Amino acid sequence: MSVVTRFAPSPTGMLHLGGARTALFNWLYARHHGGSFRLRLEDTDSKRSTPEAIAAIVDGLGWLGLDWDGEMVRQSARRQRHVEVAHGLLAAGGAYRCYCSPEELETMRAEARAQGRAALYDGRWRDRDPAEAPPGVDPVIRFRAPQEGETVISDLVQRRIKVDNSALDDMVLLRADGTPTYMLSVVVDDHDMGITHAIRGDDHLSNAFRQTQLFRALGWEPPAYAHIPLIHGADGAKLSKRHGAVAVGAYAELGILPAAMRNALLRLGWSHGDDEIIDTAQAIAWFDLDAVNRGAARFDMEKLHSLNGHYIRESADADLLAEVEPRLAATYPLAATAEGRRRIAALLPEAKARAKTLVELAENLAFLFRDPHDAMTPKARRLLDNLDPEAEARLGALARMLEELEGWDEALLERVVRAFAEGEGVGLGKIAQPLRAALTGSHASPGLFAVMAALGREETVTRLGHAGESGRSER
Ligand code: GLU
Repeated sequence: MSVVTRFAPSPTGMLHLGGARTALFNWLYARHHGGSFRLRLEDTDSKRSTPEAIAAIVDGLGWLGLDWDGEMVRQSARRQRHVEVAHGLLAAGGAYRCYCSPEELETMRAEARAQGRAALYDGRWRDRDPAEAPPGVDPVIRFRAPQEGETVISDLVQRRIKVDNSALDDMVLLRADGTPTYMLSVVVDDHDMGITHAIRGDDHLSNAFRQTQLFRALGWEPPAYAHIPLIHGADGAKLSKRHGAVAVGAYAELGILPAAMRNALLRLGWSHGDDEIIDTAQAIAWFDLDAVNRGAARFDMEKLHSLNGHYIRESADADLLAEVEPRLAATYPLAATAEGRRRIAALLPEAKARAKTLVELAENLAFLFRDPHDAMTPKARRLLDNLDPEAEARLGALARMLEELEGWDEALLERVVRAFAEGEGVGLGKIAQPLRAALTGSHASPGLFAVMAALGREETVTRLGHAGESGRSER
């Protein structure tokens, strides 16, 4: 039997980390076994399901590279089928009409609570003659759940778990207005879609018992369940906004690469020895459910950043250029021109070794397009302000020499600047420090000669010319 998994989000908000991890695990399990991965939007709650939330799910999965097989299923479109199944079960005696009014149910619950019992429906219409139905009450249809024995689930993560059937009441399948409940819809859809494995958050564990009972009553085989532990923050508390963004879309904006996000999500509750860096091909080859931990997983932003740094270093320069260019062009239109791309491309090999996010990478390259005086670090400012006349004259002479230089590449620039320093009888640092400050507005930057090569002759000479001017104007 071929494996069929599904991701079944309720589109009522953003795609959050927990949902993304559920999607990833289902996707990996299907890909590992050569099966299929389906997407089902559980959008039956028409008040809370929004087009924005659907878009966030579709975009989030697209960004993560989790492609689904076949058409995306919208649960709301299958309503008629859900109703039919409930009526079929009713006809077969596996369900019954319940005419309790909301007030009656409330009293029933209050009494149960007062006696310290669970607030379960007491089954009062289970065997009652429908002829006794009060007039004017639209009945709900309830599942005639087994009352004796126990329901056992062989969960692929939680192992064998069971519940006494007496602890579960007769759940509603169709509401008084005829609409199917979530519990009915999930069971019918999982069956009709041929789902063999349902991997989901362990907040659905208690549902699994009721769903299993319903599957059996319908004469169907439930999927194998795998309930994965919830995600906590690095401090052990349940994941919330204060641990950083919880919506997947926010990570794209923060400059996280999908490959890094997949790796980080994979490590949330799943491990393969001590391996931290596991790319997607490797994950597909290794993924199975035996290695899912039963304890809560911890999401660690720092770990994500360090993984992201790794995947940035591994990325092709052309791919990084495509990511960084629009980020820079939003502020510096020059970045989107051929000259702008040339400058970025020239420095990428070096800059990508030091960035943990695409945002940081773009920031580290911004000096290529910005007037150094607009964002001068205090240290660089001090350095330029305190240049003695001799050093200032030296920069001027260097600028003139560079203007005349034949050729312009990193190796050549290194050679001539070193020779220039020697000719002036000073150490390279005496030249390099003010040069770096004048060109980048910072005292720390990528390799000086790579910077000069990237800026190009004209921009280098212009910035050198402005260095002294500004220093004077500040005094
Ligand atoms: N729609 C449910 C949710 O978003 C998931 C149901 C399931 O996976 O069975 O939490």
